[in-house]
Amino acid sequence: MLNAHQQQILRLLIASHGMSRTEMAEKMKLSKAAISTLVKEMLHAGLLEESVPESNGQGRPSVLLKMRADSAYFLGASLLGEQVILVLIDMHGLVLAKTEMALNPDPQQLSAALAAAIPGLIAQKGISADQLIGLGVTLSGFVDENQAICVQSALLGWKNVPLAEMLKQQTGLDVSLENDAKALAVSEKIFGVAKKARNFTLISHGDGIGSAHFFQGQLHRGAHGGAGEIAHCTIEPGGRPCRCGKRGCLDTLASLTAIRESMRDKALAANSIAELETLAVKGNSAAISILHQAGQALGLSIANIIQMNDPELIVIAHQPHAFDGLLKTVVMQSIDSHVLPSIMGKTPISTIDIHAESWARAAASVAAYRFIIQLPD
Ligand SMILES: [Zn+2]
Repeated sequence: MLNAHQQQILRLLIASHGMSRTEMAEKMKLSKAAISTLVKEMLHAGLLEESVPESNGQGRPSVLLKMRADSAYFLGASLLGEQVILVLIDMHGLVLAKTEMALNPDPQQLSAALAAAIPGLIAQKGISADQLIGLGVTLSGFVDENQAICVQSALLGWKNVPLAEMLKQQTGLDVSLENDAKALAVSEKIFGVAKKARNFTLISHGDGIGSAHFFQGQLHRGAHGGAGEIAHCTIEPGGRPCRCGKRGCLDTLASLTAIRESMRDKALAANSIAELETLAVKGNSAAISILHQAGQALGLSIANIIQMNDPELIVIAHQPHAFDGLLKTVVMQSIDSHVLPSIMGKTPISTIDIHAESWARAAASVAAYRFIIQLPD
């Protein structure tokens, strides 16, 4: 059992790429001798490892402490496509094993199918059930503030489904549910490009658009779990009807679904966003106008987020080959032209590719994140 100081050490290490005992002592306001004693126990328990960075020629480099990859394992399942993807990750966020099954949206049958798949998945890597810390599940829709109930998911046809409890009964694991964009933000926070950022926003750009915010190192879920729903912010009052019942939502202008609809409306000879970009490069005015409209709307929304929250970083997670060329250029220009000149260019913007497996890994990160934040201060 770790004491409060050791739990704090875990948190510091998860938020860094390794830390020396001296740096840790400074951050925790403890003596180096006290840190050494705490760390010794954790090394002995197999939670930490030491690594020696290469010397830069200026004296002996400090030994860095890191979490051991095999100190804990997590499972993640994504319910976002026709196939359920279930992955096993280690404490470094590496996907060790993966399995897929057809999605049966009946919650009972889904829980039973996931529970049945777990023993085979972990056996592939020789991991026993007692080495698993938890299971995260990501889905499209609303999740309640306790991350236990799917309040509503149009994609799954669910309303108030207590999936976490159902899965816990079937698997014996601690289970947490999360909306897709929030799960991806958690994944980038603990394993990815936002590791060192305490305040950042992730925008997921795909068939729909999502976002999630971290404030002061914590995921902001909102009073009802609904924070970050930018897809249905009105960008064009009185614009195109949206599936939510309103008009002119960001989703109707900038999502891949909206872009494809515009391609069909204008009967363009393009079957993908990459082909649309190629038409734009060749000077096709309809292709240029579609990409401009989408890019302007997305850039305006991101500018508003920057203006409201002043984040350290914006991460745009996009489908492969669907955020290059003109779309990206217009988004960046639109951000610059809609923020106050005094803050223009001050917020770094990272872009990352998302694949089907990214969502399952993100789900597993939610289980890891819950494990980390549940550690008492
Ligand atoms: Zn809408």
